Amino acid sequence: MLDLASLTELLSQPRKIVITTHHKPDGDAMGSSLGLYNFLIQLGHHAKVVTPTDYPEFLAWMPGNEEVIIYTENKDLSARLIADAGIIFCLDFNALGRINEMGALVGESKAIKVMIDHHLEPEDFDDYRHWDINACAAAQLVYTFIANQLNQKQYINKDVATCLYTGIMTDSASFRLPNTTATVHRIVADLIDAGANNSRIHELIYSSSSENRLRFLGHCLANCLEILPEYNTAIITVSKSDIARFDVNTGDTEGIVNYALSIANVHLAAFVVERTDRVKLSLRSKGEFPANEICKKYFEGGGHRNAAGGQSDESLEATVAKLKSILPQYKTLLLQ
Ligand code: 5GP
Ligand code: MN
Repeated sequence: MLDLASLTELLSQPRKIVITTHHKPDGDAMGSSLGLYNFLIQLGHHAKVVTPTDYPEFLAWMPGNEEVIIYTENKDLSARLIADAGIIFCLDFNALGRINEMGALVGESKAIKVMIDHHLEPEDFDDYRHWDINACAAAQLVYTFIANQLNQKQYINKDVATCLYTGIMTDSASFRLPNTTATVHRIVADLIDAGANNSRIHELIYSSSSENRLRFLGHCLANCLEILPEYNTAIITVSKSDIARFDVNTGDTEGIVNYALSIANVHLAAFVVERTDRVKLSLRSKGEFPANEICKKYFEGGGHRNAAGGQSDESLEATVAKLKSILPQYKTLLLQ
């Protein structure tokens, strides 16, 4: 393990740096990565954000976005950057399996690996760790890394602030989840002071749907939503043919699960979708209910208590049946 003084010393000279984040990056993955990127380039580092896969269109506007390299579309260049890097920052994930094929490349690289993350149970692949499961977003930890650990708050300019605001806003479900503490609000206030245009960012993320996406949402709510009142649970099940019919793209399904959770007595909501390769589950919960436990135990996944994800190689119907079969053992917790 590297200490903070050694890392600070390392960052005092221009370095070749790769910043990476998890499969199918979300707002926090891209916000934290590009926030750090916009900080590092000011110090003269040769930094590149390399994502394992593509990401939604509604995230493709943040400062630095045009410089992002997508591994699946640029494997040779990505592999070269990873092999040549002096430092690799791993943001918003803590297990190399979360970056797919890139995991082996990062694992083999001689670079110093820095993990900045807020997920449970980190693997042991890093040399320096800024890790806190109480943080509401990896972007919050990038802020404290820059401002408190490196003591370089003066570099949190408009571009850095815009990206970090986006990460915190999306991962805290617009400042709603229980981990959105007073400290988080103070950080957010700082980011607005530094130039983040909060109202514009909300618009870019939440009011930029395509017509298709909205019609797809209508279809999900009208035809795919099942409520199980005896378990305070709601499940939205979406088939391959729904995806094809509404021409659903990466990111179009994001957030739909929250509509199911918005029903008064629903404590657990699931969005189960048949993708081309596997069935993907997104779980959300209210209060103490551990959505991540279900994903970890039964669906090869994980995440946070109130927001978790997983997958299944079984059919859509079998996956939903499996999810329903698990609910009785959680009945007491679900009815609290
Ligand atoms: P989402 O439902 O938006 O895909 O994911 C919600 C949360 O669960 C995110 O914090 C994400 O990091 C985590 N998550 C989603 N899918 C997986 C998975 O397959 N494995 C693990 N470990 N975490 C996941
Ligand atoms: Mn996150």
